[in-house]
Amino acid sequence: LAAVTEREQSAPDWHADGLAHVWLPYAQMKTAPAPLPVAATRGSRIVLADGRELVDGVASWWTACHGYNHPHITSAVARQLATMPHVMLGGLLHEPAALLATRLAALLPGDLDRVFFTDSGSVAVEVAMKMAVQYWINTGVCGRKRFVAFRGGYHGDTTGTMAVCDPNEGMHRLFHGLLPEQIIADLPRDEETVAALDRLLAERADEIAGILVEPLVQGAGGMLFHDAAVLQRLRALADKHGTLLIFDEVFTGFGRTGTMFACEQAGVVPDILTLSKALTGGTMPLAATVASKRVFEAFWSDDPMHALMHGPTFMGNPLACAAANASLDLFAREPRLAQVAAIEAQLTEQLAPCRDLPGVVDVRVRGAIGAVELDAIDIPALKAHFVEAGVYVRPFGRIVYLTPAFTIGEADLARLTGAIFRVLSSR
Ligand code: PLP
Repeated sequence: LAAVTEREQSAPDWHADGLAHVWLPYAQMKTAPAPLPVAATRGSRIVLADGRELVDGVASWWTACHGYNHPHITSAVARQLATMPHVMLGGLLHEPAALLATRLAALLPGDLDRVFFTDSGSVAVEVAMKMAVQYWINTGVCGRKRFVAFRGGYHGDTTGTMAVCDPNEGMHRLFHGLLPEQIIADLPRDEETVAALDRLLAERADEIAGILVEPLVQGAGGMLFHDAAVLQRLRALADKHGTLLIFDEVFTGFGRTGTMFACEQAGVVPDILTLSKALTGGTMPLAATVASKRVFEAFWSDDPMHALMHGPTFMGNPLACAAANASLDLFAREPRLAQVAAIEAQLTEQLAPCRDLPGVVDVRVRGAIGAVELDAIDIPALKAHFVEAGVYVRPFGRIVYLTPAFTIGEADLARLTGAIFRVLSSR
């Protein structure tokens, strides 16, 4: 207690002022512990205002894949800041956006080669949904305005995207009257669920604009994994019933599951794909909705009303695009995917002992994602224990998980897995 009091006393003035005015995400601010005051970030560590360093197991909501403050990214942003911090894409185009779109088109599989920039994952998914609906309108098909999404899925917090999240997801339940009605199905994992989805698509083909899924890993819905065959079945069903297939790679994009994009592991090319999070190496808000040739061609017309009706003010911000280009340089010149493979091996070995702990339901690892599922969880208590253990781990639902920077290094990763084992052992 003495240590805590001392620490509270050492909190900087801005912290108390901020607590009076900043509205924090997903937090009951009356009862939740105060947020930790952060002074700096460094590599895979968060430096608190009192000087303590926490090994970061979360990489700021799964974004900081190269670690924090990578000099190649920070200097690229600094150079861009001196030239042109922002200019709109309304009627204008700048080199960082042009270069980034060209590079993404070259990296993505198949003919996914037309990039629409936005500034968050939720909005990238919103744009994907609008793109799909307008695709059908532009091609003269009426009434296809609904989406099939999946149980366990999470696609964002905006009004449109909440409606395609798992409806049992507590945080969105309140808004149900507001949300457009969408269809939430089971992933086609076995004969029965394949047949059910096939029937659903046949019966409601006239209303369905697209099928939307997080490929291989459903992240915020519970770090749930499915295999590549599920994605191949979705591609086959979308083709059979003539609907669009949308992959939300906001979380899985840029190496997190072991390949640059998760869809590569299935050999499946969706019609539309969304990216954000690690796009800028976790440094700047940026997202992209990437369309295949078939989709873009429906917008390429003499009719002005066939243009995509979307355009956020800060879309394609040059600083963010410069950060993303620098991040792609790092993927090209540093062994990121090999680092992900090493993290996968280490997580597999070091999280395995958690299986034998009381209350542990499952331990699963894929790429640089490790999850321990529990039967019940006291989140505030766990969070406090993790901080005491010198790590930043942020459990949700019944999941304690790690999504570290790919550059984390063996010793810091061992500190995270060791802390999880110790904290879960002492529950
Ligand atoms: N889609 C997926 C798969 C996500 O994991 C998230 C965020 O966690 C989003 C969309 C929403 O992204 P953002 O929080 O940037 O709006």
